[in-house]
Amino acid sequence: MGPLPALSEGGMARPRIGIAGISIESSTFSPHVSGDEAFTIRTGSELRGYYPFLAEGRELGDAAEWVPLVHGRSLPGGAVAPATYQRMKQAIVDGIRESGPFDGFFFDIHGAMSVQGMLDAEGDLATAVREALGADTLVTTSMDLHGNVSETLRDAVDLLTCYRMAPHEDWMNTKERAVHGLLSRLRGPHGTDPLERRPFKAWVPVPVLLPGEKTSTRLEPALSIYAELPGIEALPGVVDAAVWVGYAWADEPRCQAYVVVTGDDRELIAREAERVARMYWDARDDFVFVAETASLDGALASALAPGAARPYVISDSGDNPTAGGAGDVTWTLDQLLQRAELTAGTVTTLVASIFDAGAVAEAVAAGVGATITLTAGARVDAGPAGPVTLTGTVFSLTDGDADAGTQAVIAVGGLHVIVTERRKPFHHLDDFRMLGLDPEAADIVVVKIGYLEPELYELAAGWTLALTPGGVDQDLLRLGHHRLLPGVYPFDQSGDPALAAVVSRRGEDS
Ligand SMILES: [Zn+2]
Repeated sequence: MGPLPALSEGGMARPRIGIAGISIESSTFSPHVSGDEAFTIRTGSELRGYYPFLAEGRELGDAAEWVPLVHGRSLPGGAVAPATYQRMKQAIVDGIRESGPFDGFFFDIHGAMSVQGMLDAEGDLATAVREALGADTLVTTSMDLHGNVSETLRDAVDLLTCYRMAPHEDWMNTKERAVHGLLSRLRGPHGTDPLERRPFKAWVPVPVLLPGEKTSTRLEPALSIYAELPGIEALPGVVDAAVWVGYAWADEPRCQAYVVVTGDDRELIAREAERVARMYWDARDDFVFVAETASLDGALASALAPGAARPYVISDSGDNPTAGGAGDVTWTLDQLLQRAELTAGTVTTLVASIFDAGAVAEAVAAGVGATITLTAGARVDAGPAGPVTLTGTVFSLTDGDADAGTQAVIAVGGLHVIVTERRKPFHHLDDFRMLGLDPEAADIVVVKIGYLEPELYELAAGWTLALTPGGVDQDLLRLGHHRLLPGVYPFDQSGDPALAAVVSRRGEDS
């Protein structure tokens, strides 16, 4: 991403650009419901401040009159409550009507929001945004690669792109690229014609739906597929190239992979989109889990084997809250508590985590050092197992974490169980250290996560991704999807798709 192009004749030196959106990844297989409390709502200067590249003095920040409206962001979770969605949607539409008109619009979404009773929430939101904006506003869309690109969404916006890395180390860079693309179009070289400013979109759905843990861009074949994109983007006549893996834990017809290449050269973008789509389809059997996978018993056998590497990290992947799991599934903890070798005190195991506000309050009432028996977890997702009973010592109590609230560590022999007041993902070593725990000195670290975020990846001397049950079960075929399109691999292995690009731009037939 270089500097912005020089201002062309008829281009806009300082366009008015609105900002709004909703970001959540929500599993329809999780009983958790994402209500108002799940969302952080940003408006005005706080919303603009969320994007460092829009700061005054930065090139993009100074290249437009920014009008930050409203944005809702949530940790992944269960499907969104309809009233919560409608309130956020209405606030966005009202903001556009009150503060418009806009030359451009930065639509910042995830792309895997499920709302109870709807099958394409982002398509619905994009349609409402377009209706409020009017036809002439150029809309750029920044997404997560785990989002989905329905025809409705595609047709409502002009530019769309997504992350090129999983884990998403390029998440802010992607938003910057989306905004850079928008400003480049508004500055020229297409003059004052709003139709010519719109790029063509070559869109190819790829009927493959894989869990994120099989599509890390650190490994083949995703590594090579995503490596194609910067080269395509650099070709004359191309604006952007993007590949969506899609979201596996929603039962909706839009859930599958997509390739979209945008630009002015219709033949070139179609050819490149089809080429990448073919690579993805041809590689469908080659996507493998990012780590050795096993049942929990298998993972523990490796972790407890003589001479096993330390620390040994086990991903409790079925209830990963950053994929949409409830975060209070007790199935794994229940199994760990039944292992005498873990509770004896000779092995130090850290277990992150379950949330249960009532159990935390009981630990606080008992105080650090007290011996306590409490029942915890499975308040939201009791599908795989019911609440567990913990008898142990209150090892630590920690107040005031922005995500978790109050946190208690209950030590059952060497098994250190983290219980939080609210849902919290554990991605950083400091998440453990703030509780008085030392992950580097532990023998085994069990985390509700899929592929390991960078600090845990560095920490892990050994690692097994345990295929445990929960709302984001990695074994997709046992979840029971009913609404996917026919031919989506691996649910239906009879597909033989044409993988032909649909090329369109708003206001013109394809
Ligand atoms: Zn993602």
